[in-house]
Amino acid sequence: MKILLAVDGSADSAAAVEEVAQRPWPPQSEVKVITAAETPLMVGMEPWVPSQEYFDQVERAVREAAQAVIDAALEKLKTIEDKTLKISSETIQGSPREAIVEEAEHWGADLIVMGSRGLGAWNRLLLGSVSSAVVHHAKCSVEIVRRSQPNERKVSS
Ligand code: ATP
Ligand code: MG
Repeated sequence: MKILLAVDGSADSAAAVEEVAQRPWPPQSEVKVITAAETPLMVGMEPWVPSQEYFDQVERAVREAAQAVIDAALEKLKTIEDKTLKISSETIQGSPREAIVEEAEHWGADLIVMGSRGLGAWNRLLLGSVSSAVVHHAKCSVEIVRRSQPNERKVSS
């Protein structure tokens, strides 16, 4: 079984990693950890013309942040006892929703595992825009992991 694990460093994405690490998978399964890194488009945002060096710095920072997100997930996956499980990773340039759906098809994933929310600040919805788009557009199964928040629904008397 080929499992594509999409991570963005958020708490829900960490819960998705945890889920993959805890579950028994069929023999010869493979897990591929991906994060999509989008270099912010800054044209017109700054009151000055950014130098090439400035662009390079931003790009390097984005790349390093993506690598840190991948490394944290790989660290957790190392605890899996099934040493036959093949684990790989990749940082993909581009918008997350397209990157995840396209990589799933390209790699031939049987299952995408991801968190319900991510780093986005607006926390009212149950699904973020990336998880929502992937659920709608992926051609394979998608598992959305939600952190248990036991206190959230407490009704006060
Ligand atoms: P929004 O981005 O719409 O503000 P959000 O950040 O709360 O909302 P999503 O971005 O949809 O929620 O995140 C849901 C899940 O999608 C994350 O837990 C993670 O598993 C995955 N995900 C989000 N962004 C990326 C990314 N750049 N690369 C890989 N996976 C991602
Ligand atoms: Mg997000």
